[in-house]
Amino acid sequence: MAVKRTLNRKQKDTSKPKSKAAHPTAIARRGLMFVLSSPSGAGKTTISRMLLRDEPGLKLSISVTTRPKRPGEVEGRDYRFVTAAKFENMVRAGELLEFAKVFGNHYGTPRAPVEAALTAGRDVLFDIDWQGTQQLREKAEGDLVSVFLLPPSIEELRRRLKRRAQDSNTVIRDRMSRAGHEMSHWAEYDYVVVNLDLKRTFSDIRAILYAERLKRTRQSGLTSFVRRLQAKL
Ligand code: 5GP
Repeated sequence: MAVKRTLNRKQKDTSKPKSKAAHPTAIARRGLMFVLSSPSGAGKTTISRMLLRDEPGLKLSISVTTRPKRPGEVEGRDYRFVTAAKFENMVRAGELLEFAKVFGNHYGTPRAPVEAALTAGRDVLFDIDWQGTQQLREKAEGDLVSVFLLPPSIEELRRRLKRRAQDSNTVIRDRMSRAGHEMSHWAEYDYVVVNLDLKRTFSDIRAILYAERLKRTRQSGLTSFVRRLQAKL
């Protein structure tokens, strides 16, 4: 026990940064758009929450939707709930980066917060469907990292949808029948992860995020950093 405590203290000390100032070799980079898609019930919401909890540099894009609020959902945290007329206005004014009709309701991504985040080097997480992902790919492929989550089996998908039980049986049946269609889009994504074990899936998805942050083309400060290194040769 004592050994464990000593080790813990040591680990803490060495891992703590000496100061809160940016590391002198921190290289400016453009943020990325991290899209997670899956049929409902494949674990996307759980994984999104885990990412947002553990990755402070990642912020969720809050979509606008015309669907009614579910119990427990909070305006501005889960969605911005708008009328069909307001949604239509936003589309017409070009305020949405992408939009789609899913299960009879309209969903869309407000453009301004995403553009501001990317320019400031912050990453944005999107919980959107394949239609929205296709639109983002057309508009901003260089900024996009897309991940598709698959359930380990159809039985497990049905179990997860039933357990959630927030929707009526008709909606659950509808979602099950649409799962096959949604899954047919797996090959359009950069990465595909089968969500058999939540911990493993989370660490796989985090690994994708970390690697993508290091992509050369995203590190906009590299040229000047290397120039500064060379100047001191
Ligand atoms: P739910 O109503 O269960 O929250 O979401 C239903 C589906 O709509 C999910 O597949 C979710 O990813 C998708 N969705 C949520 N927000 C957006 C959005 O802004 N754009 C698009 N294209 N799909 C969205």
